[in-house]
Amino acid sequence: MKLTILGATGSIGVSTLDVVARHPDRFEVVALTGHSQVEVLAAQCRQFRPVWAVVGSAEAAQRLAGLLGKAGSRTEVLYGADALAQVASLPEVDAVMAAIVGAAGLPPTLAAARAGKRVLLANKEALVMAGAVFMAEVRRAGALLLPIDSEHNAVFQSMPCNYSGDMTRGGVRRILLTASGGPFRTASPELLARVTPEQAVAHPNWVMGRKISVDSATMMNKGLEVIEAHWLFNAPADRIDVVIHPQSVIHSLVDYEDGSVLAQLGNPDMRTPIAHALAWPERIDSGVSPLDLFAVGQLNFERPDLARFPCLDLAYRALRAQGNAAAVLNAANEVAVTAFLERRLTFLGIADVIAATLDVVAAAPVDDLAAVLEADRQGRAAALDVLARHAARSA
Ligand code: NDP
Ligand code: MG
Repeated sequence: MKLTILGATGSIGVSTLDVVARHPDRFEVVALTGHSQVEVLAAQCRQFRPVWAVVGSAEAAQRLAGLLGKAGSRTEVLYGADALAQVASLPEVDAVMAAIVGAAGLPPTLAAARAGKRVLLANKEALVMAGAVFMAEVRRAGALLLPIDSEHNAVFQSMPCNYSGDMTRGGVRRILLTASGGPFRTASPELLARVTPEQAVAHPNWVMGRKISVDSATMMNKGLEVIEAHWLFNAPADRIDVVIHPQSVIHSLVDYEDGSVLAQLGNPDMRTPIAHALAWPERIDSGVSPLDLFAVGQLNFERPDLARFPCLDLAYRALRAQGNAAAVLNAANEVAVTAFLERRLTFLGIADVIAATLDVVAAAPVDDLAAVLEADRQGRAAALDVLARHAARSA
């Protein structure tokens, strides 16, 4: 199978290459993309010898070409958004790992869908922003969409085989998404008011990029995942529940009409869903150690606390509102998380900025990519405005 890996230098990208390296007979890397981490991408190019490598700027491309030239590599270096879409839709590529973080990942992920590829979807923001448009392209082009997000991969594995998108026909009552609760599951409101970026990115169970780590701490990550589940499985908001499960061993569950509840379990390591989607419908070694239930001992469950974690509620609100609301929610979240990481906004301010942004951007339908990008632009502009007023108030 010939692969393009978008976001190869990130947490998911590195885990993907780890699985790929275990099966040289099975996978061939055609293109790797990074953005700013040129040295990391150069090392990956030396090991996996892709035909193409893509970075974010002309300057980064020049540095990468220099490093590769010295090493005698024949990899061709490109840069920019068009190059990302180009390597995501090359005729010789079978599968595309979509692991760029945030809205920047939407255009190349959509290009892969349009080209009818096997799309391994980690970039949940793409689906949150553009769910209707993206799913329509997947169906039209006959692309195969396989979820990498551990919860959705678990749901995919637990759904009826050949699930058609009709929960009632499949005998499915509800989808139960598990959530670890993040690093502040039991924190008091006083403690939440003083959270630093360092504390927020230190997740108890998963090692991930900075943005998704903050999303896990606010529980916006679970909110984005509710919206992601809605699009992937054609599930209405009131049939998707969130269950706090601090051990992160059950990755999600499907509740059936006959009383059966099916779940997928495993150690919290993204190489399992990555290997599952790379090899589907076969199974391959992922390098993940077998689950030791005796070492786990207990599996606990709690109800999410929407008062302490309002971001989860905001995401349900945006999903129910439909139209541009989820794209605006995502844009506002990206602006707020960046501001928090740069110490321009408090942890609790993240939810305030998103709520105020949802209030000011007018509802609009989104029927095509242009409308999605317009909703994203409006959401960012409004969030920056809200942020400026927020900063002025707290100064
Ligand atoms: P990272 O921050 O670790 O990696 C992000 C990747 O995207 C890097 O390769 C980065 O390049 C690249 N990138 C960043 N900005 C841009 C841009 N503007 N244009 C093109 N490329 C860019 O993130 P993760 O690997 O943690 O997450 C990737 C996606 O997967 C996210 O959407 C996340 O929500 C999702 N996900 C991640 C999980 C995890 O366990 N990490 C679990 C489930 C979903 P560079 O580093 O070179 O600058
Ligand atoms: Mg997840």
